[in-house]
Amino acid sequence: MSLFSPHRSQAPFLPMEQEPLSERVLTNIERMVKGALFSCRMCGNCILQETAYICPMTCPKGLRNGLCGGATPDACEVDPSRPCTWYAIYERAEKMGRMDKLLEINAPLDGSRAGKETWLDTARKWKQADHSPRLLDYFTDRDKFNREWHQFFFDLRQPEWWQGDAEYHPPAYEEPLSLLEANLRTGNFVTTAEISPPLGASGKIIHKKVQWLQGWVAAANFTDNASAMARMSSVASSKLCLDAGLEPVMQLQARDRSRLVIEADAMGAAGLGIRNILCLTGDHQRFGASPISKPDQFDLDAVQMLWVLRRMRDEGIYLDGRKIKQRPSFFLGAAASPFGAPPRFEALRLEKKINAGAQFIQTQPVFDLNRFDEWLEALDKRNLLDKVYILPGLLPLKSNRAAHFMADGVPGVTIPDVIIKRMDAAQGKEAQQETGVEIALEIIEKLQRMQGISGMHVMAIHWENIVPRLLKEGNVPQPAISGNGLL
Ligand code: SF4
Repeated sequence: MSLFSPHRSQAPFLPMEQEPLSERVLTNIERMVKGALFSCRMCGNCILQETAYICPMTCPKGLRNGLCGGATPDACEVDPSRPCTWYAIYERAEKMGRMDKLLEINAPLDGSRAGKETWLDTARKWKQADHSPRLLDYFTDRDKFNREWHQFFFDLRQPEWWQGDAEYHPPAYEEPLSLLEANLRTGNFVTTAEISPPLGASGKIIHKKVQWLQGWVAAANFTDNASAMARMSSVASSKLCLDAGLEPVMQLQARDRSRLVIEADAMGAAGLGIRNILCLTGDHQRFGASPISKPDQFDLDAVQMLWVLRRMRDEGIYLDGRKIKQRPSFFLGAAASPFGAPPRFEALRLEKKINAGAQFIQTQPVFDLNRFDEWLEALDKRNLLDKVYILPGLLPLKSNRAAHFMADGVPGVTIPDVIIKRMDAAQGKEAQQETGVEIALEIIEKLQRMQGISGMHVMAIHWENIVPRLLKEGNVPQPAISGNGLL
């Protein structure tokens, strides 16, 4: 049990190599003291001052930039025996008036520092720094002391190779990079749709589904081992889609990928002509089929992934500083969960994604338009609506079983009782499908009249052939700009 943080379930990190005895003693003392106070995991990259003195590494995904889509006020989605670390951080930061601190984009771990003591290291840097805070100034010139204190710890948190901040970084290019971006810039109502990658090796099914959607949607999303279950890769599915003549949105998850694999996969996708990338942290492997892979496989989170890919595109550098001659053309997206945490927390998390590089947002399915509107208002309060294209998720319900599963088993999805009752009242498969279509058409009508959004993202999971009917009967405009999959 610790004094200031929720307890940790994971063991503290250990250094990669044997330390000299004197440092080992210091490391052990630091581990004991900070463990008792903060459940510290000795990540060696401390950001406690930014996170209301709660250690973010107690989050089972090790997220360093805010909560995941499945977080609730009651418990962590991965380990329901404990509270969500990030909920605790938001709540305490709000009480302490330190919410602004949560906007800074925190670096991923520097593995060479993990498990090592930091006190001696900090003292050395304090001595070497040109303007380290002087104790005397605390009493004689508090402003100066606070300024220098802030700068000193900012420099510690934001190493040369990362340079994170709390600013908005608009894209550094003029012409649209993809058909999806070109369509969104027209201001028309734009639709994207999801295609599940096949379980097997044949790409024929992708060709068939692309034919259903062609002419109706601006781009098709391909999930990336969604729910931590293996399927055809997102990059391969996206390439098959591109070859079939429709522009893909390649989803890229941080789970199970190190930072260098993320950079390599994104660069490979750019080399294949895939322009739209949706950056996701990913579901924890606990939600996958067993036996699950070893936990703690999140090297980056979605915010960090956006930061890295935007800098590859706009600054032409890899995370390690190497220069890129032929820069990749990424149109970058992110996911949002309007019904997870309270809208003010979700808006803050989304602001961070937008600052890091997200240009379009696809959300969890929307069934409750009033609550969705509250979320949009929270974004508006933060002046985010002009910086990003928002595509709310639309999920046509195929059966009442699907409705109950979505409502009870999918974190971050809310379905009002009235919709569940309508689905339950429909008798038989066909009647339930028709009711699902009816509900979807009602939502489409409302979305088309809503301010602040740019279209919608249809998630007709394993029911992709319903999409043309929904768009036709919903009077949804077809994409203004189309092509053979490449701009
Ligand atoms: S709910 Fe998500 S963000 Fe919160 S502690 Fe669990 S994994 Fe981390």
